[in-house]
Amino acid sequence: GEIMYLENETVRREQPMAPAGSIAFRNVSFRYGEDTVLNDVSFTIPEGKTTAIIGPSGSGKTTILRLLENLYTPQSGAIFVGGKRLDELNLAAWRDHLSYVNQDAELFSGKIRDALTYGIRRAVSDEELGQATKTAGIYDYISEQPEGFDAELAIWGNAMSGGQRQRMVIARELLKNANILLLDEPTSALDAETATAISDTFFNGFKGKTIVTISHELNFIAQADNIVVLNHGIVEDSGTHERLLRTSKTYRTLVEEQSYQEVFAQ
Ligand code: ATP
Repeated sequence: GEIMYLENETVRREQPMAPAGSIAFRNVSFRYGEDTVLNDVSFTIPEGKTTAIIGPSGSGKTTILRLLENLYTPQSGAIFVGGKRLDELNLAAWRDHLSYVNQDAELFSGKIRDALTYGIRRAVSDEELGQATKTAGIYDYISEQPEGFDAELAIWGNAMSGGQRQRMVIARELLKNANILLLDEPTSALDAETATAISDTFFNGFKGKTIVTISHELNFIAQADNIVVLNHGIVEDSGTHERLLRTSKTYRTLVEEQSYQEVFAQ
């Protein structure tokens, strides 16, 4: 009895739950095969803030999210979470603390209720469903369905717009309530107006969570507390929108390209 108990305690200490705190990349180098993608990269992702990762195509943005998911381990350097090495954390516990959203807005079939609670290992009340879907801006749409949360996604899901599907994903991730939200261009499949509305929903809905986002959408990037500029495998600069407009040519170029695209997309 007592010995078992002590052993369990030891196991628990060696497999800590995901710790709170900021995330630090320290001298991280990473390559797939021969190609170096990140070359001695160091930067910090502050806890409870939004960090946007920007950089030209192929600069390693998605790779950073994959490293954060612990799908890959850096060949040198390490990622620390609250001072603990990410590669030494319990993987399942760490994944429980992450939400990952990309542009695909993937939903699992079944009832709307099932799609919203997919992967959640606890009972979710209708009240919680109502709250999350209201915050995500999809409650009214669901209420219009005769069966409400019990409506079949196979029927109603096809009628949803891209924005509505992404709102469903937001509601699902609000219910999951992970501490860290990884966003890989979550608005890039949407028209500009919808993209801005969805960006705002992310910012409001996940206030106080640690958000790491890849985005090409200026509205989204400019609101971030911290922007990390990647270029050719290194972190070229980091800071707020205002700071980077002054200090980073790469950032200015991206902003100008985006403004240009927006003007000509009208
Ligand atoms: P984009 O903006 O185009 O999505 P990115 O900045 O997200 O690009 P990554 O997807 O991280 O860049 O890719 C960085 C580099 O690593 C690219 O040269 C890419 O071709 C390469 N790469 C990505 N994934 C793999 C993989 N699984 N195997 C081999 N090379 C890969």
